[in-house]
Amino acid sequence: MIKIIQGDITTLAVDAIVNAANQVMLGGGGVDGAIHRAAGRELYEACLKVPEVQPGVRCPTGEARITPGFNLPAKFVIHTVGPVYRDGQHGEPEKLAACYRNSLALAAENGCKSVAFPCISTGVYGYPIGDAAKIAVREAEAFLKTHDIEVVFCCLLSGDKKIYGQLLKGNGK
Ligand code: ADP
Repeated sequence: MIKIIQGDITTLAVDAIVNAANQVMLGGGGVDGAIHRAAGRELYEACLKVPEVQPGVRCPTGEARITPGFNLPAKFVIHTVGPVYRDGQHGEPEKLAACYRNSLALAAENGCKSVAFPCISTGVYGYPIGDAAKIAVREAEAFLKTHDIEVVFCCLLSGDKKIYGQLLKGNGK
């Protein structure tokens, strides 16, 4: 099932929330900063323990890593790194799709029955929301064909929520 809500992802009592992290995974601005503040210092400590795959890279773009949620209502945080948008011709759509696929797979592997996503890459990383939302919905729908999990698209902005709503309506929902 797919649900769209408007609000602050750090308040959601779902099994996992997804963080739009960066490769070093030690916090940042936007939703990343909000998640680290709400989860507390232990999240930072847990992220530090995620092994680097190369200097300064704990999670390469398109991949995902999981930690506990600590002070959050969510049991887990799934950290994924979206692509920085250039013009859409530099592998950004494939990388963004991989973020959704890998995050959903990690949620399922960890027994999650509900997972909430922010609009990955659409803030500082500059991905146009319409294009990003299409990829998010497409990947969620593909995953739901073979998995029983609730996917929540959590939009901070009402305009973003509207875009998801239109896409889902267009798909007969
Ligand atoms: P990125 O670097 O991947 O672009 P940002 O954090 O800058 O990540 O933005 C990603 C999206 O997260 C944006 O759509 C922004 O509106 C949204 N966002 C920021 N804070 C929150 C929050 N607390 N809950 C849900 N979404 C949020």
